[in-house]
Amino acid sequence: MVETVIQYSEKIESTHLLGPGDRAVLWVFGCCFNCSGCIAYNFKHGTCIEDTAENLAQWFLDTKNDGITISGGEPMLQAMELSKMIEMIREKRDVGIVVYSGFTYEELKKKADQDLGVKNFLSQIDILIDGPYREELNHNEPYRGSSNQRILPLTGRYAGAMEAYYQTSEGRDIEVRIRGDKTLMIGVPSKDQAAIWQEIKRLDQF
Ligand code: SF4
Repeated sequence: MVETVIQYSEKIESTHLLGPGDRAVLWVFGCCFNCSGCIAYNFKHGTCIEDTAENLAQWFLDTKNDGITISGGEPMLQAMELSKMIEMIREKRDVGIVVYSGFTYEELKKKADQDLGVKNFLSQIDILIDGPYREELNHNEPYRGSSNQRILPLTGRYAGAMEAYYQTSEGRDIEVRIRGDKTLMIGVPSKDQAAIWQEIKRLDQF
């Protein structure tokens, strides 16, 4: 049997910053967009790790987290592979899926007519944060990079948690984790936080 391989840049467990509950996050590698001001440079051009969907599903199951958020990079470029990973996870545990994509929901629905991977993946997503990052629309709203991006519930899974989680925060929060000699920022940073992060990364290189 041919193994399903996923290319990713980072994965972490147990954060509250990228969706309701205690979540793991997988940042996939590669992006087809070129948003001005993108701070996810490493997920487009930097570290690319390959692992099987099966191993990544097991990694997530071992975390015991309530859900997984998939960001990047552009998750839809690996829609079929990610949908297989989610299938494997949900065979063992019914968990919530949050996805950040540079495509709009309308674009994805059209793609789904032609692309079985996108169709399957889209059908598994509970909350989609959609659309490309637009620097001029970065108004420091929490949980999204710019105000053109929408937080869309695609299922009823988070009906009780959506409003409390997405509407009550007053601003953007980030976490910085240090693992070995690497630093990782989690969350959607404000402009000031992004500038501090760039300085940390600059110092990281010395
Ligand atoms: S979609 Fe995300 S990762 Fe891709 S260029 Fe835009 S901001 Fe960067």
